Amino acid sequence: MNHFEYRNGEMFAEDVPVKRIAKEVGTPAYVYSLATLKRHFRVFDQAFAKIPHIVCFSVKANSNIALLRTFAKEGGGFDIVSGGELFRALKAGADPKKIVFSGVGKKKEEIEYALNSGILMFNVESEHEMVALNEIAGGIGKRAPISLRINPDVDPQTHPYLEVVGVDCHIGSQLTSVSPFVDALARVREYLDRVLVGSLLKEGARIRYLDLGGGLGISYKDEMPPHPEEYARAIIQGVEGLDVTLILEPGRVIVGNAGILLTEVLYLKETDEKKFVIVDGGMNDLIRPALYGSYQAIQPVMQNNGEKIVADIVGPICESGDFFAKDREIARPDRGDLLAVMSAGAYGFTMASNYNSHPKPPEILVDGDQYYVIRARENFDDLIRGEVIPAALQ
Ligand SMILES: *Cc1c(COP(=O)(O)O)cnc(C)c1O
Repeated sequence: MNHFEYRNGEMFAEDVPVKRIAKEVGTPAYVYSLATLKRHFRVFDQAFAKIPHIVCFSVKANSNIALLRTFAKEGGGFDIVSGGELFRALKAGADPKKIVFSGVGKKKEEIEYALNSGILMFNVESEHEMVALNEIAGGIGKRAPISLRINPDVDPQTHPYLEVVGVDCHIGSQLTSVSPFVDALARVREYLDRVLVGSLLKEGARIRYLDLGGGLGISYKDEMPPHPEEYARAIIQGVEGLDVTLILEPGRVIVGNAGILLTEVLYLKETDEKKFVIVDGGMNDLIRPALYGSYQAIQPVMQNNGEKIVADIVGPICESGDFFAKDREIARPDRGDLLAVMSAGAYGFTMASNYNSHPKPPEILVDGDQYYVIRARENFDDLIRGEVIPAALQ
């Protein structure tokens, strides 16, 4: 459920007409609904209310600090994959004791930063990483709390500066049924048994966290992903009898349908074979269709009952991959019409770039009948920040 809906044929974000946002901040622009964000977080969190758990929002899905602040205030933690994401989470007021650090390529400075910040645990993904983590922790006189990813059979016993506190997995993204999660959980339990009875744990150590990762899907088109309650029911059943705190790392399911990318139609180009709707947002703003061939619903901000056409909806970038939709049926738009690319709240802005030297779009957070600019539109000076023409070239 989300709070983007039509009233008398006009799209609203909560109680704000989307057209007004476009007029006041321009296009392209990301628009998020605070009510939707909170609702999604709460529904997910409450689904696990029966058991000890921490919902660690996956920062890479949407890293704007206003959103992170929202989840921190709801009691959420964060799943991070870089020092930059740790910085964002801390800026947003995150409790470091609710931060887990995932990712296959953690660098020394990032590990030190996380150790010094006192995060909950590192999800260790390889033997080499464990060696590095042990060295770095020893170097600053700390012990690193770690969680073991189920696939690599690594033995932390020879690493004195590591304390195994959890086991974890992350099986994929945009999953639309519960069975892969149930299977993964069974494997994690099996692994946990081996860790417990095997040689991996020191005397007195205890596995306290079971981290199931993220990956619950959303409906972009006609997918029917399980409701978080159904997902939670299956998982709660799967952890029965274990004395652990469950860690969940949802990203997309929380923010995906809580955001749209607002874009303006620049031109309609018609050839004999094909029609193109050229809009001012492009793959630089939202790369999912170009990168994954993924489907994004596209809706007019002002509904019209006019002629339907079938067209490619493309951006201004000089790349054949620059499209939001192919062969899409759409009410024939005019120059200046506004379109909303739906389900753009996850892996949208976080994957935006300045390709073709387009400034990144602003991010807008709607709250009831108000909205806030939570990231300003970039300008041309932002584009060249840090660039230098060496004296020799002057
Ligand atoms: C990307 C990622 C997530 C979030 O995945 P979603 O599909 O957005 O829920 C969670 N955990 C890890 C380790 C990830 O890499």
